[in-house]
Amino acid sequence: MNPMKPMLDAREQRGQSIALNFGWVQRVDDNFYKVHSQSREAEYDVQSGEFGWMCSCPDSRYRNQKCKHIWAVEISWTLRKRVEESVIIQPVSVSNCPKCGSESIKKHGVRHNKHAALQRWECKACGYWFTMNLGFEGMHATPEIITSAMQIYFTGVSFRGVRDFLKLRGAEFSQQSVWNWVNKYTRLMENYLEQIRPQLGDTWRTDEMYVKFRGNKRLLFGMMDDQTRFRIAEMVSEHKGTSDVRPMFREAEARAGKRPKVLISDGASNFANANQREWWSRFRDQRTVHIADIRLGGQVHNNKMERQNGEWRDREKVMRSLKREDSPVLGGMTIFHNYVRPHMGLNGMTPAEAAGIRIEGENRCLTIIQNAANVEESRKFAD
Ligand SMILES: [Zn+2]
Ligand SMILES: [Zn+2]
Repeated sequence: MNPMKPMLDAREQRGQSIALNFGWVQRVDDNFYKVHSQSREAEYDVQSGEFGWMCSCPDSRYRNQKCKHIWAVEISWTLRKRVEESVIIQPVSVSNCPKCGSESIKKHGVRHNKHAALQRWECKACGYWFTMNLGFEGMHATPEIITSAMQIYFTGVSFRGVRDFLKLRGAEFSQQSVWNWVNKYTRLMENYLEQIRPQLGDTWRTDEMYVKFRGNKRLLFGMMDDQTRFRIAEMVSEHKGTSDVRPMFREAEARAGKRPKVLISDGASNFANANQREWWSRFRDQRTVHIADIRLGGQVHNNKMERQNGEWRDREKVMRSLKREDSPVLGGMTIFHNYVRPHMGLNGMTPAEAAGIRIEGENRCLTIIQNAANVEESRKFAD
């Protein structure tokens, strides 16, 4: 095989976009699918037979290739399987005592603060008093104010902008308060979500972009899963050519519990080096094949990764105001990208949903925070 030939199958890539188009892959039964043409108003029949999948399109019939429609069927099968086997994170409702787990609880008055009234509960079994305010104990703002402030902040609005937005809605909080919420809840969400492994595909993309932190130019490296757009890992560094990106490779492998079969990047040599040193294997079939798009004369573009970088670039204003590169804000942007915001290219799913992690409830941010707080709470009582 020609070693310069890209390993990324163009048919697979097209199959992926067909699979993610709503209604384009219709399952008649396990062995029979109708698949919409990518380029015109037509449908092809994809059927499973003695020799595997067969499609009625010319590519499959005359060229005897695994066509994009067969890829689409396989990919949509994988996605459906993942969604069926999803980890489902549900909104927390108060039905048990957080201390002893007893269901025997009763209402016990209301606690007021400036912005909200909180229902108080008492456990009849152990006498513990608690409020419905899981994760937001001692906060002066309601969960709704805090979660909407975070959502706005992570779309790229400055702390001042968020403060002004809240003020228009009759809630007066300082920029410092907003910063405290972002700080506190990003860490809480991160610690919790790190425990849940996403189901990722075999092709990953990596790239870098320049960002400014308080006027200092830095490089932000990121790695994403091609199929789900899940942002797997990232790191900040000072120099492009000499940056050792191996820590990001290791982090991505640990997070996904696997290595990709194919890694796409631009031509920067640090990706090739890291791939060789981290993911090279004596065994040919276990190696990660690295495709650098410059070397391949623009046949394979890393444009999905560039689009993801664009999402981060839109939030540059937010980053420019950061004093430190290790502030939780980068992690928070990743959380909102992966778990909270629906993605157009994923048929309205979040990347996490496509990767088999479903966050339920109208306010996903709230669901995550309360589940995270629940875990921390039970840890506290377990000590
Ligand atoms: Zn076909
Ligand atoms: Zn109790």
